[in-house]
Amino acid sequence: MEGEEKYQWVKCKNCGYLQYKSHLRCLKCKNSKFERINASGTCKLLTFTILKAPPAEFRNNPSYALGVVEFENGVKALGQISTQDNLKTGMELKPIYTKICDNLDGKEIYNYVFEPNL
Ligand SMILES: [Zn+2]
Repeated sequence: MEGEEKYQWVKCKNCGYLQYKSHLRCLKCKNSKFERINASGTCKLLTFTILKAPPAEFRNNPSYALGVVEFENGVKALGQISTQDNLKTGMELKPIYTKICDNLDGKEIYNYVFEPNL
């Protein structure tokens, strides 16, 4: 999987349910036909953790924060958070597309990171 993958949701063509695109079937009606929608808006931090022993790709960071967020429409996602300071569950975050690390071959990896919406 390449790092250019866009942050998207999918909308069920049968019942209209919105969910994260990693699911193969609609969580509500089991339909497998979806329409892709670009994620938008702010989200709320549900829970987070600080990783003290990150994977090798993140060798330039001694630690980083990983959180689960929920968007206004109920779609949840897991991702890196841009800071480790002053994180609180319930705080507002926004997704930004940015470089997150260099992989082990030295290639730049981009993905969405959640940033406090101040
Ligand atoms: Zn459905």
